[in-house]
Amino acid sequence: MKVESVRGMRDILPEETPLWQKLEAEIRAAFALYGYGEIRVPLVERVELFSRGVGEETEVVDKQMYVFPDRKGLQLSLRPEATASVVRAYVEHGLHAKGDLAKLYYLGAMFRYEKPQLGRQRQFHQYGVEAIGSLDPALDAEAMDLAWHLMERLLVRDPSSEVRDSGLFSQPTLPGQRTTDNGPRTTDHGLLLRLNSIGCREDRPVYRAALQGYFAAQVGDLCPECRRRLETNPLRILDCKEEGCRALSREAPRSVDHLCPECGQHFADVQAHLEALGLAHEFDPTLVRGLDYYTRTVFELCSRDLGAQDALLGGGRYDGLVELLGGPPTPAVGFAGGMERLAIVLSAQQGAEASGPALDLYLVPIGDEARREGTKLLSGLRRRGISVDTDYMGRSLRKAMQVAGRSARYAAILGQDELARGEIKLKNLSSGEEKPVLLPQFAADPHTFLRTVDHTETL
Ligand code: AMP
Repeated sequence: MKVESVRGMRDILPEETPLWQKLEAEIRAAFALYGYGEIRVPLVERVELFSRGVGEETEVVDKQMYVFPDRKGLQLSLRPEATASVVRAYVEHGLHAKGDLAKLYYLGAMFRYEKPQLGRQRQFHQYGVEAIGSLDPALDAEAMDLAWHLMERLLVRDPSSEVRDSGLFSQPTLPGQRTTDNGPRTTDHGLLLRLNSIGCREDRPVYRAALQGYFAAQVGDLCPECRRRLETNPLRILDCKEEGCRALSREAPRSVDHLCPECGQHFADVQAHLEALGLAHEFDPTLVRGLDYYTRTVFELCSRDLGAQDALLGGGRYDGLVELLGGPPTPAVGFAGGMERLAIVLSAQQGAEASGPALDLYLVPIGDEARREGTKLLSGLRRRGISVDTDYMGRSLRKAMQVAGRSARYAAILGQDELARGEIKLKNLSSGEEKPVLLPQFAADPHTFLRTVDHTETL
């Protein structure tokens, strides 16, 4: 019986992994430049971490979590996101006791029971940062700068393309909108930074009531789901993708008009820092994000290469979460992005990267004695840093040389005659140049001997 993978959970195959490895390396390098250290949290947590932290009424917790009891009946969940776990770890290990800002990053698999489509899976991978311990608006701006910087490292685009021509991101100009579009980072990457402030916990009930009043008057035009949201979580209506709800949302009361003076000042300061950075951003009063823990700043970085699921990453402040999870009152800001979406954008923008052969060398031994000698040689070469493989499929010399041509830059042929003379024949598989060399010397210093059949490249 053939057993297939679970819907929405896919294999990342060897031809894709070089791209993933590159992404992971760039992400780690960018995060390290901004002072973040890696934290690795478990894939499985107690279910209440997410129901309390992310919010019972959110789609992620209400509809998308993989929940199961362990053998003793403890309710567990595969993590749908990592911020709650990082904050749990922060509180559990007393990272706050150090009285400093904790800058933590993670990379890893997340699980949400969603309807699979391009850029939306049930097992997906996120990279993210959490800066826990400061309310400084410069830190919000730094998180957005880091997000941009990361994309600049990764995304190379034809400079002739123009972001604002696409129509995809065209937004009505709004009163109070502060958009910088003369900075150095507005064009080349097809990116857009959307920004809003949803205020603090004290602002929320006032804004919630304003939204409820507005939508209740037009309840007939809301989709059935949003009619339910009207009671449970009216902010989420602003996030609905149904055209009718979107039209209503465009005219809805704006959170920025319901900010307390501190939150208003904080948002102005964040924008001033973004201006100073020359970071193009678009104020989007309908941006609310899907997780309940957000306060004040919320943002999303979107790509026009992604279609419907255009968010590359999203984040914001969560000034109440540490306290909610049992720590002292501690402000924090962070973001998370989807690896799959980065991989889609990168493949679209760069096409299939022409990659060279995977191996330095392919060993072709002829006959049993040569094979035995070859076993030893292979092991020694690998310990000297040469990537090398050989045939384990009983191929003929001709077939083995074809495999060598596909997979390596050089071949080493070890036949009876060579063996009798204590030699091995090296061949440059692109130029065809070949040369016998002494076997013990080659085994002792392979780099030098491979260079003798290579007048164009160095190992
Ligand atoms: P969130 O944790 O919902 O704020 O999402 C942050 C980012 O994770 C999004 O902008 C996406 O890039 C990515 N993401 C979220 N859900 C999925 C999913 N089901 N499949 C793939 N990527 C996702």
